[in-house]
Amino acid sequence: MTRIGLIGAGGRMGRAIAQVIAATPDTEIAGGVDRPDAGANEIAPGLQIMAQAAVLAGQCDVLVDFSSPSALPENLAAARAANTPIVIGTTGLEAQHHALIDAAAAQVAVLQAANTSLGVNLIGHLVREAAARLGPDWDIEVLEMHHRHKVDAPSGTGLFLGTAAAAGRGVDLDQVSDRARDGITGPRREGHIGFAVMRGGSVAGDHQVVFAGEGERIEIGHRAETREIFARGAVKAALWLAGKPAGRYWMTDVLGLPR
Ligand code: NAD
Repeated sequence: MTRIGLIGAGGRMGRAIAQVIAATPDTEIAGGVDRPDAGANEIAPGLQIMAQAAVLAGQCDVLVDFSSPSALPENLAAARAANTPIVIGTTGLEAQHHALIDAAAAQVAVLQAANTSLGVNLIGHLVREAAARLGPDWDIEVLEMHHRHKVDAPSGTGLFLGTAAAAGRGVDLDQVSDRARDGITGPRREGHIGFAVMRGGSVAGDHQVVFAGEGERIEIGHRAETREIFARGAVKAALWLAGKPAGRYWMTDVLGLPR
């Protein structure tokens, strides 16, 4: 039996993950953490939501965190103190968060994934392969659309796909990304990777990477129809990570794809 501790348990993803855990054999919810003011009380019948990740970390085999970047330092500290592996699905992470994850991974197993779906991780692999084979005369654009409640942009998955494209080209995304275009922007810069963001309705997550060449275009895309795909992937990742030695792991490791 693997006991999973959920951080952000009262949120949209937290609730979806709780349902997947309930339907997964040999897996149970050890407990859930959320902000005391979030208004959520029970994660499952009889299982109260608690306030402190440090307490939960001592009561489970693996933590799964889908909360907010501001909670990450506390959640990583809790994982380290209890020596409990942690899956981080929270997006909107910046350089300082990744530095904290790297530091924690020296002591405990950490798997961070902006998108835990099998399909997205597979297209990340395809995008990297395509970018490696097509020259810089093929312009790369990343398009994404999400529901109206999403607070960060571009999406973590959009950035993941942009990073995959940059890796295929052997360049650093930060050096070539065009995050926003407005006004007289001048012609497109060769070798840059552009991002376009749409928000609205209840869209769970649409992503498309366009390789635009002279006279032809390749489009590699993924449409998430339900949050359940992320929840299923997160639980799969948690079961895979439980008991693993310290280190930074990726969804590609879970899915057997090359890093
Ligand atoms: P949400 O707002 O519905 O839920 C977030 C929950 O975290 C809320 O209940 C909130 O109260 C709680 N929370 C916030 N700060 C906290 C803190 N300091 N301590 C404890 N709990 C805290 O959001 P959501 O749609 O469930 O998404 C959560 C995160 O997961 C976002 O960053 C989102 O972008 C990301 N996400 C990742 C994937 C993936 O595949 N990795 C998929 C969907 C969403």
